[in-house]
Amino acid sequence: MLLEVADLRRQTGNEKEFAGRDSRLEIELRGDLFVFTEVLVEGEANNVGGKIYIRGSIEAKADLNCSCCLTSFTIPVASSFEETYYAAGSVEEGDLDNTGRIYSGEQIDLRDVIIESLVLALPMKPVCRPDCKGLCPSCGCNLNIDHCDCGPQAPDPRLAGLGEYLKQLKD
Ligand SMILES: [Zn+2]
Ligand SMILES: [Zn+2]
Repeated sequence: MLLEVADLRRQTGNEKEFAGRDSRLEIELRGDLFVFTEVLVEGEANNVGGKIYIRGSIEAKADLNCSCCLTSFTIPVASSFEETYYAAGSVEEGDLDNTGRIYSGEQIDLRDVIIESLVLALPMKPVCRPDCKGLCPSCGCNLNIDHCDCGPQAPDPRLAGLGEYLKQLKD
């Protein structure tokens, strides 16, 4: 999403409301692909003297894979961001504070800040539904859909010794 800032840049105190949409945004981070659709953004940009301060809120849909059964599913996500943008050449890159970013020309591209904000809003361990049964640890079938005859999960080999011990106690 591009924000026109030609008017905004002209004078300290200028402000502007904006809204926009993206039908699809995606990013690959550490080998994981994140896909967002129906992205709606609205916010406000202010010229606060030599820099532009932007605040926005985002609503979108996220395509995720269930951390239990690996099925893909879609959830709504909402997030917000604030960011300060400096015109290229107006500040040394090393002098930027943690949140500062550089823009050049008369447009600010909000794509990166939108995607980062959405990724941070995602659940750490997404599940397709609260009672997801996951995959059978033996045959790998999806236990939400299929049944299998594998029976109860084989005991963790690290606990096998403990099981033996408990059996002896019972006998
Ligand atoms: Zn699941
Ligand atoms: Zn099974």
